[in-house]
Amino acid sequence: MSKVIDLNEWRQQKKTETKTAPIPGVVVWLHCPTCQTTEYTEVPMTGGRTHKCGTLVEEVKVAIDVRAEYTISQWNLKLLEEGNAANSSKKSKLLNKLLGITAPLIQQIKQNEIEYQRRLELMTSEKLTPYADGWSPEKDGIKVTAVQPLGIMLTSARQADQHFPQKK
Ligand SMILES: [Zn+2]
Repeated sequence: MSKVIDLNEWRQQKKTETKTAPIPGVVVWLHCPTCQTTEYTEVPMTGGRTHKCGTLVEEVKVAIDVRAEYTISQWNLKLLEEGNAANSSKKSKLLNKLLGITAPLIQQIKQNEIEYQRRLELMTSEKLTPYADGWSPEKDGIKVTAVQPLGIMLTSARQADQHFPQKK
């Protein structure tokens, strides 16, 4: 007897399958030894590239799971929004002032996250969705560092100084 496949069930299964699948990607860190600038790009290039000053840039390719990076970045945005909401009381305003958390700082970090997500989207043809609740970077062997004062989580892929240790 052949098994009847429930189409809805199959679709649901497919959906969860893709949601839990890692998406391989690469972040390329670029460092110009002349200008001492460091930036990242999602565009890999063979044969090296030259900075606007004419110097050959040092490149470090970091393999990432695009979905993991996206999930953590989404958490960061949520954290920023919650921070903004909490900011409305007088008491937390004072506390934030002491910690050096200012509105322009929050705005800057938010922009960084949005930009990073935009680059992640360019790395894949898939529609990016975060991992389901319960997923943790540690379980996947991804190291994250909470950056104070806001507690923004950064994976090592996003920390330039980890890729150019000689520049420290
Ligand atoms: Zn340069």
